[in-house]
Amino acid sequence: MRTLVTLACTECKRRNYTTTKNKANTPDRMELKKYCPWCRRHTVHKETR
Ligand SMILES: [Zn+2]
Repeated sequence: MRTLVTLACTECKRRNYTTTKNKANTPDRMELKKYCPWCRRHTVHKETR
């Protein structure tokens, strides 16, 4: 039971990553620190739908 989610940089709003998550473990919107090639540094990436 894994759901495909898109991760978007909160600073430039670009969607840089897609990943899967386990809805049972992470029912809320996910936030991950990821490298954004557009900001050229690590930023918080939020799950979008
Ligand atoms: Zn960015």
